[in-house]
Amino acid sequence: MEKVSDYFGSMVFDDRVMKATLPAKVYASLRKTIDEGQQLDIGVANEVATAMKDWAVSKGATHYTHWFQPLTGITAEKHDSFISPSPDGGVIMEFSGKELIKGEPDASSFPSGGLRATFEARGYTAWDPTSYAFIKGKTLCIPTAFCSYGGEALDKKTPLLRSMEALNIQAMRIIKLFGNDTVKCVKTSVGPEQEYFLVDKEMYDKRRDLVYTGRTLFGARPPKGQEMDDHYFGVIKPRVAAYMEDLNKELWKLGILAKTEHNEVAPAQHELAPIYSTTNIATDHNQLTMEIMQKVAARHGLVCLLHEKPFAGVNGSGKHNNWSISTDTGVNLLSPGETPYENAQFLLFLCAVIKAVDDYQDLLRISVATAGNDHRLGANEAPPAVVSMFLGDELSAVLDAIENDAPYNATEKTQMKLGVSVLPKFTRDTTDRNRTSPFAFTGNKFEFRMLGSSNSIACANIMLNAAVAESLKQYADVLEGAENFRDELQKLIKNTIKEHKRIIFNGNGYDEHWIKEATEKRGLLNYKTTADCVGHLLDEKNVKMLTSHKIFSETELKSRYEITLENYCKTVIIEARTMCDMARTEIAPAVESYVADIAKAVNLKQSVGGSTIPVSYEKSLIIKLSGLVESMSMKTEELEKALIEVSELGDIAEQSMAVKDELLVKMGRLRAVCDEAEKITAKKYWPFPRYGELLFGVR
Ligand code: ADP
Ligand code: MG
Repeated sequence: MEKVSDYFGSMVFDDRVMKATLPAKVYASLRKTIDEGQQLDIGVANEVATAMKDWAVSKGATHYTHWFQPLTGITAEKHDSFISPSPDGGVIMEFSGKELIKGEPDASSFPSGGLRATFEARGYTAWDPTSYAFIKGKTLCIPTAFCSYGGEALDKKTPLLRSMEALNIQAMRIIKLFGNDTVKCVKTSVGPEQEYFLVDKEMYDKRRDLVYTGRTLFGARPPKGQEMDDHYFGVIKPRVAAYMEDLNKELWKLGILAKTEHNEVAPAQHELAPIYSTTNIATDHNQLTMEIMQKVAARHGLVCLLHEKPFAGVNGSGKHNNWSISTDTGVNLLSPGETPYENAQFLLFLCAVIKAVDDYQDLLRISVATAGNDHRLGANEAPPAVVSMFLGDELSAVLDAIENDAPYNATEKTQMKLGVSVLPKFTRDTTDRNRTSPFAFTGNKFEFRMLGSSNSIACANIMLNAAVAESLKQYADVLEGAENFRDELQKLIKNTIKEHKRIIFNGNGYDEHWIKEATEKRGLLNYKTTADCVGHLLDEKNVKMLTSHKIFSETELKSRYEITLENYCKTVIIEARTMCDMARTEIAPAVESYVADIAKAVNLKQSVGGSTIPVSYEKSLIIKLSGLVESMSMKTEELEKALIEVSELGDIAEQSMAVKDELLVKMGRLRAVCDEAEKITAKKYWPFPRYGELLFGVR
């Protein structure tokens, strides 16, 4: 048996390989770049490039690529070979520092939201040395950022790195105020829990909705769904187990710390969680994980569905973004400490997050907005579209006590004076009971649960880091000028609790009463769809905050606004077209041929026995099905008409509203008729695998 430790990270140019292959001086200089963000000089880059190339070639690589995350949501790569002609007519394998540091993909077809006029179509990619290079297939992949020549970010990594830096700057100011001089930097960490579905490849191929859109656009409910609760943490089926084993191995080779796997709530649904790492690495790894999940599935005759809502009426898939802030000295700033002094610092960081989530509910909601995720949020299976925070009873009681200058609990009679009292220990158990909260404190980290399963985690973390950086900045501005640090701190924390406690909600987030209370009494936002929320990205307060921390420029924000809505519209338009096509060329003909066969049977029966043989069942079925086909045809026409109207709208905001109010509504109507027909059409006539087969077909 091969040992995991033998192949873990074998495809990664990680610290072990760097140390072993680089001259000590070069290694030290590269380390400085990685740890402290120092500029890399070209001499060092050349040596790193050569070592990287030699290592990659020894592993069978022939090509290299600058691997980046454009705004489409997937990753992009353009492969160049290492080959260079040698004077003797042969070839040598070459790779220079210049090629390592900077690439120029022909990027004119990546979305830029108007940032890159076509005449200057070329953007450039810049190496992110903090994320290790790795080999995929025969290609050395170099994680990079992607910018236009004007310096605007065209990807997700650039603003993510900027947001981490912004948080670092502000958190360091606070840490210094607490008298800590040894900490050099602060980083955020993330562990994303990834949900997915596995379906049989042969069945998948028969469904054009799955092939074109990643989700089923038709499908009547099967007799058995998830009501038995027998799948969650249930025994993993052999074919799925083989898949997971293979997947883990591939991920481990890439140095991805895949740790836990289990079945999820819905049949055919599963989850994979890695051990957490620094946010930009976690982001790269999550992108890679999603890609490898799909690749490995193909080897097992399976398809991995990452869509947020592949099946109506069945739980959708999300991604839980476990997030914390820690120092380079290993202190988790969201972990309650041992001493009153550490606790004051913890409470201040906690308050910074509370304030951030309340002040920027809209940005958090926008950061997870996609057409796919709209089917989940607020659908009583995922957190509601209203952003709120769960802190647990214990921590909430502490905050109450601070707010009211009251004793924390009746028995101890200790006044919650910061820097004096010791906090109770918050164990995980007491804080993680609530699964319905969009943003839950789980002992030493927050779990942001609104992300869709196919989302890049970059967007959510950019907004989270940015919003928290802003809270910390405001705190630091006050505290740096304070005459009495401790008094000012107490006041700051108290005020934050007073002003922002409306965002804290420990109850059931799926409850209808909560949505009413949240929106009517507490004034929290409830943006139900992508079309409703994305425009607020450009609200003055948001632009001001994001530009002041240099996370986005105003132009970048405008381009992201455009691209998000464009993606939303395109996605739904493709779905609508697919529906029309399937209804016309597959479903209606299938129902028709069933009707024709029944009619033939009626004729046959009558020719044999005249009126003595009853045919009322057949007749009523013919009437019902013919009515449904008629209605199907009308609903298809209506949808087609709406498609033309929507496509003609030039303004993206207007178009996205029409997509929401017209297309999606008409799609729902067409689907209802088709699903009705599915229920009463003989199985062998149905043109593609049905829900029951898809959901229970993998054993
Ligand atoms: P579970 O929710 O499955 O019981 P955990 O809550 O311990 O398990 O972990 C869920 C995810 O949170 C994992 O990916 C884990 O690595 C990550 N995680 C744990 N601690 C932290 C932390 N301090 N910061 C960020 N992520 C963390
Ligand atoms: Mg968890």
